[in-house]
Amino acid sequence: MNPAEWLARTALRTPAAPALLTGERVVADYAAFARSAAAIGAALRAKGVAPGDRVALFAGNCVEYLEALYGIWFAGAAAVPVNAKLHPRECAWIVENSEAKIVIVSSDHADELAPVLPPGVALIRLDGAEFAAMRETAPLAEPAPMSDDDMLWLFYTSGTTGRPKGVMISCANILATALTYFVDVDDVAREDAILYAAPMSHGAGLYNFMHVMRGARHVVPDSGGFEPQEILDLAKKLRNISMFAAPTMVRRLVERAKAVGSDGDGIKTIVYGGGPMYLADIVEAVEIMGPRFVQIYGQGESPMCITALSREAIADRAHPRWRERLASVGLAQSCMRVKVAGADGAKLPSGEIGEVLAQGPAVMPGYWRNPKANADTLKDGWLWTGDMGAMDADGYLTLHDRSKDVVISGGSNIYPREVEEALLTHAAVAEVACVGRWHADWGEELVAFVVPAPGASIDPAALDAHCLDLIARFKRPKAYYVVEELPKNNYGKVLKTALRDRLAKEK
Ligand code: AMP
Repeated sequence: MNPAEWLARTALRTPAAPALLTGERVVADYAAFARSAAAIGAALRAKGVAPGDRVALFAGNCVEYLEALYGIWFAGAAAVPVNAKLHPRECAWIVENSEAKIVIVSSDHADELAPVLPPGVALIRLDGAEFAAMRETAPLAEPAPMSDDDMLWLFYTSGTTGRPKGVMISCANILATALTYFVDVDDVAREDAILYAAPMSHGAGLYNFMHVMRGARHVVPDSGGFEPQEILDLAKKLRNISMFAAPTMVRRLVERAKAVGSDGDGIKTIVYGGGPMYLADIVEAVEIMGPRFVQIYGQGESPMCITALSREAIADRAHPRWRERLASVGLAQSCMRVKVAGADGAKLPSGEIGEVLAQGPAVMPGYWRNPKANADTLKDGWLWTGDMGAMDADGYLTLHDRSKDVVISGGSNIYPREVEEALLTHAAVAEVACVGRWHADWGEELVAFVVPAPGASIDPAALDAHCLDLIARFKRPKAYYVVEELPKNNYGKVLKTALRDRLAKEK
């Protein structure tokens, strides 16, 4: 099932319904949205894109992002949405690894990306004349047929081995995630609007499908991102706004609402997830803004779809275990089985902490050309999430820690190993270990413990500049601790827990 068919059907059903909005301005109704997607699909075909090929997208949030995505799917190709915050070299690596034929880029990224792209890859500016001409091409009559197993979205998640891994998201995965949303997260009506305040290259972008199916509005704020006051204003004017937000965004929105005496009027639903939400924060959020919140827990490997904590459970203060439930990530979503298991994969008794395993139609078929990662992650029919958690007798799952070392800072994942590898290429650095440090706004921030090379001294500004050359800005360590040696176990493995303990004592 090609999701471009959902767009084509909605355009037939409600051609004049507003589809794409920048701020308050409607820039396309469903007929125009579907037409430009079909035209972009035809233009991509003419440029040599065949069904099954990959087309990368490297841009911040904008309504053209959705036109490009659906254009790619009309052509039967898979989209490779790249996090717009990545370094152009990191994007180029993804383009090369995915063997994308074309990369569609916003002009603020194009000049830096062009010289580092692999040979033979065409670059199209999303806001340039070529893309405008593609929109005017004679459209494809209908979307290319795609089967359940066909790859729709190749999502690059950073790997602890330093290089990102491509998660293959199939048409069947998207169908499962989209239909389950209506059951476990929220229903969507034609009058609703999905607001893209978090990156469309990630989970927020996946929420387009439910809203295309129902013919609802898609809104990209003028700022292209998350500005709390702008969101409160837009919600008041546009009404029935839903959005995906990382816990940091929720906290900032609630603070703003409190400051200006708003109760979030016009916001229908805020789906939060992607990182741990502190109990005090969600309690306050509901106090200030009312029952507008639903939580999801998912990961790239099972996109937005492992468990959900319903609006009712979040708002039900009278329940004897309300606080425990609020601190959990909820119950398995309807299409999923979830268990907490020991190292042998056997289910643990309720309350015991183990690794969270998930099974069901939202789980990826595998990583892109990475059999080793598949063997580590997909075992005996289960997805090993790398998250540690415990399930209570009623099936509510609470996450305790991550077995992987990922640091989640303001909703963005930072894989310490990748940063460590970058720092290790600096002559003054002999050894380095990066860990997360608690941060009031971002949840966590990355800091580095550095052992200087013999005779060298550490200049944090120089290391910062070095990181800027190699990795995305948001991944740079926010502080450097110069140490004589790193704590290690008998096998020579760095004890990151000891480093975290040191940071905890510092608080
Ligand atoms: P990503 O693959 O980038 O979406 O990151 C997924 C990871 O984010 C998960 O494996 C969890 O560690 C974390 N995560 C996602 N949702 C939640 C949630 N609701 N609460 C706590 N952590 C979460």
